[in-house]
Amino acid sequence: MLLIAGPCSAESPQQLMETARGLTGCGVSVFRAGLWKPRTHPGSFEGVGAEGLPWLVAVREETGLAVATEVAGAKHVEACLAAGLDALWIGARTTTSPFLVQEIAEALSGTDIPVYIKNPVQPDPELWAGAVERLQRAGVRRIGLVLRGFTTPESGPYRNAPLWPLAVGMRTRFPGLPLLVDPSHIAGQRGLVEEISQKALDLGLDGLMVEVHAHPDSALSDAAQQLSPEGFRSLLGALQERAADTDAPDYREGIEALRARIDAVDEQLLALLAARMDISREIGGYKKDHGITILQPGRWELLLERVLAEGRRRGLPEDFVRKLFETIHEESVRRQGK
Ligand code: PEP
Ligand code: MN
Repeated sequence: MLLIAGPCSAESPQQLMETARGLTGCGVSVFRAGLWKPRTHPGSFEGVGAEGLPWLVAVREETGLAVATEVAGAKHVEACLAAGLDALWIGARTTTSPFLVQEIAEALSGTDIPVYIKNPVQPDPELWAGAVERLQRAGVRRIGLVLRGFTTPESGPYRNAPLWPLAVGMRTRFPGLPLLVDPSHIAGQRGLVEEISQKALDLGLDGLMVEVHAHPDSALSDAAQQLSPEGFRSLLGALQERAADTDAPDYREGIEALRARIDAVDEQLLALLAARMDISREIGGYKKDHGITILQPGRWELLLERVLAEGRRRGLPEDFVRKLFETIHEESVRRQGK
């Protein structure tokens, strides 16, 4: 598991070094600290900027940790490359902007530095994928993805909704890229960091980027969500890593039996769907013979109401049933038109 940890922002050489010392010897391979901070409101702490570059280099010299910061434009990239940083990340607000991502990609062209791309703030996988493609076209070979959650109308207890299925979709689309999770920006408060990290590991994702500050409560940005180095170590102690797979015979026997049951149900599902579509075609012919339009007002709403109620009775989530039947209905309408 790849571990990236460090403060939200670099604040002073002492704060960086004290935090980094607290992170040695526990499996962290990259030390992170934001130098240029994209803050929602002006007048908040906007980072120390290029002044912090030598502080990061000093951290690497003393602790041996690789050092990384966020870049939001070509000037940042150039300054980081000149200072000799080991890795970069593109923040969630920047991933939303193809202009900025393109500018960053061009500034990276011909270099070999690893770049992590955080998801865009809005739940649009195309913007995220587009950022990957822009970097790939510029010849950046070492790219990682970081899920830091999304701005959605409803994010439950979290600051940013994780939308795990969207991240899993990105993994399927870019199977060669490591996918990390930033539980700190998803959580927004330190008490929720562990459950999100555990979920990431349960899904088999490749690592974590966690905000850690020597004195989290007095941090100049994101104070509520940062862990102390001790808190981070106890997080690592609490997390349970699952293996991707195993050849252990008792596990294999059990999982194969369960998978055989799933396969049998899938076969029945497909047979039922095919039977349903045959009826749709028949209905289509019947309506045509009687000069009736394919769509009748109110029929879809009634059908949906009935299946949602039946779904509820069977403990199926409403949005799942709705999506499923929208897809089925769409194909049915197509069949009736044939
Ligand atoms: C950060 O990593 O401190 C940061 C600003 O993150 P994000 O781009 O995910 O908001
Ligand atoms: Mn932060």
